[in-house]
Amino acid sequence: MLGPDDAGKTTAKFYGRKTLVHPLMKVCSKARGSNMKHVARKLIEQLPKTDLHCHFDGSIRIETMIDLAKRNNVSLFSYEPSVLMEHMKYGRVRRSLEEYLAGFEPLIAVLQHADDIERAFFEVCEDAAAENVWHLELRYCPYLHTKKNLTSKEVVEACIKASERAERAFNISVKQILCGLKNDPHASVFAIAELAAAFRDSGVVGFDLAGPETGYPIKHHQAAIFWAKKHHLFITLHAGESCGPDSISEALHEGFAHRVGHGTSLTKDPALLDYVADHRIGVEACPISNWHTGAVKSLSEHPIKIFLDHGLRVSINTDNRLCSDTTITEEIMAVMENLDITMDQIRKLLINGFKSAFLPYRERARLLLAFNAAWERLVG
Ligand SMILES: [Zn+2]
Repeated sequence: MLGPDDAGKTTAKFYGRKTLVHPLMKVCSKARGSNMKHVARKLIEQLPKTDLHCHFDGSIRIETMIDLAKRNNVSLFSYEPSVLMEHMKYGRVRRSLEEYLAGFEPLIAVLQHADDIERAFFEVCEDAAAENVWHLELRYCPYLHTKKNLTSKEVVEACIKASERAERAFNISVKQILCGLKNDPHASVFAIAELAAAFRDSGVVGFDLAGPETGYPIKHHQAAIFWAKKHHLFITLHAGESCGPDSISEALHEGFAHRVGHGTSLTKDPALLDYVADHRIGVEACPISNWHTGAVKSLSEHPIKIFLDHGLRVSINTDNRLCSDTTITEEIMAVMENLDITMDQIRKLLINGFKSAFLPYRERARLLLAFNAAWERLVG
């Protein structure tokens, strides 16, 4: 948990610009006469939230990463949490998505045994529950965890075990999205779609294509997407992060995506922006990660405010809790401090998360009612 001073340091160090004083902070300041940023952070922590775009491997705890590395003889820059975290922080602002993705190698290397995967997965759920995330969708690519003795099926089983345990232990709903990698062969990606379909009744709700964008069109994996759709899974596709709006158009019209991951280049095509708004396509914004991958030059240039002004169903998400040293609370603070966003738009971001969730309609409606009651109680 960050204290008031830590909060200030985090902002100054990572966002590197004069920060805005959001109306929510002013409300907090008047109401409680205390450090307004600290109180605003506490309030955001208490609000019910979703995290729909969160990669399991990029979100494990740093202490767990070190512990598993020691036990599995994986070489790390340091085995001291503060030193390793500092090393990862310094390297965080990358010039490209490809560079950012290279940072995942040690994380994949430590997650090759069922017990380790189950432990790390459970902890990510625990961390999300601790900041009052009511619904979490964790995504991963199973075959990345089969470099030792595991099969992809065993990887999914370990994650499901962890999800179920977390749902019993905390006030959280946890679902899974299986990812194929765009730069992998058709057969490997198709096998992931088949696996997702096989586990549809056990907590896997969606299929995604992740990995590098440039040079790897979504339509190459259309057969896998169709298989997933045919088996009634939801589809979310990474698009418009390092490529232009054409990749988003492809995700929608050739990948038939229900939601788009990132979509930061959407503002470059006004007609497509309208289409996404008109068809209520969920856009999974991940502001801090988008800054780290170079998808946006700075947080103050992130299009999330434009998306909200345009009425898009945009939600706020973490992408990688460890690699981007973030939480949903941190993402909301970053947006509040860098963009001229209204209180109503913060509320809308959270509502959009529940509306876009890959959950049965009735469950979404139930969560929304509970969210509205909590907002009234906490914010008024
Ligand atoms: Zn992602």
